[in-house]
Amino acid sequence: MAKSFRDKLFALAHNYWWCWQPDVTSIFRDLDAAKWRELDHNPVLLLESLTEDLLEQRARESVLHSRVNYAYRRCEEYLHDKNTWGALNAGILGQKPVAYFSAEFGIHESLPNYSGGLGVLAGDHLKSASDLGVPLVAVGLLYNEGYFSQQIDEDGWQREIYDPVSNHRLPIQKAKGLDGKDVIVKVDTRTGSIHAQAWQVNVGRVRLFLLDTNIEQNTPEDRRLTARLYGGDVRIRIRQEVILGIGGVRALAQMGIVPNVVHMNEGHSAFATLELIRQRMNDDGMSFPDAMRETTEMCVFTTHTPVPAGHDRFGYDMIDEHLGPTADQLGIGTVGLIGLGRVNVADPNEPFTMTVLAFKCSRRANGVSALHGMVSRRMWTGLWPNKAEHEIPIGHITNGVHLGTWLAPQLAEVYNRVLPPDWKQRSGEADTWKNFESISSGEFWEAHEALKQRLIGMVRRRMITRAQRLNHDKKELIELESLLNPEALTIGFARRFAPYKRADLVLKDVAQLAGIVADSERPVQLIFAGKSHPADDFGKGILQRIFKMSQDPAFKGKVVLVENYDMNLARHLVQGVDVWLNNPRRPLEASGTSGQKVVLNGGLNCSILDGWWAEAYDGLNGFAIGNGRIHSNQEIQDERDAKALMKVLQEEVIPLFYDRDEHGQPHNWIKHMKRSVRTLGWRFNSDRQVMDYVMKGYIPAAGGEYCEMDRFH
Ligand SMILES: *Cc1c(COP(=O)(O)O)cnc(C)c1O
Repeated sequence: MAKSFRDKLFALAHNYWWCWQPDVTSIFRDLDAAKWRELDHNPVLLLESLTEDLLEQRARESVLHSRVNYAYRRCEEYLHDKNTWGALNAGILGQKPVAYFSAEFGIHESLPNYSGGLGVLAGDHLKSASDLGVPLVAVGLLYNEGYFSQQIDEDGWQREIYDPVSNHRLPIQKAKGLDGKDVIVKVDTRTGSIHAQAWQVNVGRVRLFLLDTNIEQNTPEDRRLTARLYGGDVRIRIRQEVILGIGGVRALAQMGIVPNVVHMNEGHSAFATLELIRQRMNDDGMSFPDAMRETTEMCVFTTHTPVPAGHDRFGYDMIDEHLGPTADQLGIGTVGLIGLGRVNVADPNEPFTMTVLAFKCSRRANGVSALHGMVSRRMWTGLWPNKAEHEIPIGHITNGVHLGTWLAPQLAEVYNRVLPPDWKQRSGEADTWKNFESISSGEFWEAHEALKQRLIGMVRRRMITRAQRLNHDKKELIELESLLNPEALTIGFARRFAPYKRADLVLKDVAQLAGIVADSERPVQLIFAGKSHPADDFGKGILQRIFKMSQDPAFKGKVVLVENYDMNLARHLVQGVDVWLNNPRRPLEASGTSGQKVVLNGGLNCSILDGWWAEAYDGLNGFAIGNGRIHSNQEIQDERDAKALMKVLQEEVIPLFYDRDEHGQPHNWIKHMKRSVRTLGWRFNSDRQVMDYVMKGYIPAAGGEYCEMDRFH
């Protein structure tokens, strides 16, 4: 039976494929632009807010019928396409998919399931796996209060707002088991059982299953277990991780999904390995050592944290309460199980570390940039006491970003003219971009300027919303309507306000920065955004410092702090800035990905040689702060990096931007933009990333031959 207009719209709304299809996104926007924005771009809420009649009327007015029909047909074709990269290259994965586990997924701003880069990386991974046709399912937790929305109060202090979203208002549906019933899993602890229900989110061809403990089988306390991402104490954390790992594997089994490969994105999900071992022992009558060996063969682990303190650790009591029953079933007892999470198995004082369990139960492990791979090998030498550092089996696969999600559609139109017809399907290959630098400088620059204008428009709107909330007077509201200068060199800095990211490094020498922004011949402005973890008062202090600076007469209108950094604001920022500033304390930024989004849109990175930038910078595709040297004294390093930052701004960035030709365009700057896109756009791309995981991780884990070891390292 033919589907109605309304059915087709709902079908499109229930697969996040729409969010990387500009033509589908614009259908939702054209239904009601104001509502679309107000509802955080949630298409299910939008459609539910419009009555049938109103929907029809809007469709007629804006000639939507044929666009919806076309979008729906394209979506069906996409979902059923057999002719994909995965079909050609990952056949061995066949009907048994990769199961990808992560504590957070950043798919879109309407699904508050992420706090920062780790989640967005996971979201981009799913989208590229979908585009490439790699058989993959994903498992996470459903946080109905998400992370939090951020407000900055009158005093510059961060306020966290938790808005519970009920499940039926999200583009998700209840997952169904083989028996056609809801999928509900149970995990036993020494003090009772925890239950969770699985929900399904469609991300193109990929199914993402999210476990929710807010069901009646649970105690009131456990019903709130998955309410918030990273919102609880150690006990909540371990209970969340038990649900994610053990509950996640059980949920897949209930749906008849037997993974060929299990990929753990960070250590949060490492308990999955214990459940896989238990199933093996149960189903195949294997001994514990045999089952562990077989499980290890199929697991792939990505570590993200270059500092020991960043890893989840649990003491004996926590482990015994939550994993005791599992330990008994495995026949190893709590002491044996704790040993799996210790570097030094016999040390009774060493806590259980999730990362250690993940390393011990994976055939391959990797960091997320070349430098981070090296740092990780050094950090974990204790786990392989008989190996030299370079032999430690931790490689790297550098992170990338999803082109369809992060590249501005307006720019894609311009790129269309110089790239091969199938460039979007092959954006992770160098060859695709080889002619990129023949793009018209004028068109490239004009499209960039328009996107900058669009960013400034959004910043103004957000600043006005805040001012209204705080009851500021009319005069100020009017001033905010012309905030920021579209002609000025615009530098963006947005990310989580984790202290190692040093958001305030550029403010270290206030007088010097004041001098830079005071130059009316060569105006410079900075846009900041970012959330601090709710428990991190130090991070909130940095945020406040930047806010206070933005109120100082020397910086007012030139330094702006925008509230509530999310994927929507991120998109506008990375698409509109001239320069993306990144100044972490090396080597603590494992990879970083926001600068890669900027690359796709022609912005230039100005960054410490850390994470991905250490392997990306070639002298002509952006700017380096300092030379990558590390000082053992943190204060000295900060001091030195702050000086290097000022130097590169004053001697390289600003002069290059204001070196204009007869058309008023920065000829040499545009050359850098072109080179940046050509040399980096394909490498730091999640298609390339997923292809690497398939070749170096998934295929070997599924029992295949291909393993290009040297590139893995
Ligand atoms: C890309 C992204 C990040 C990651 O940024 P980094 O610079 O890698 O820390 C964090 N938050 C959001 C919303 C993003 O889109």
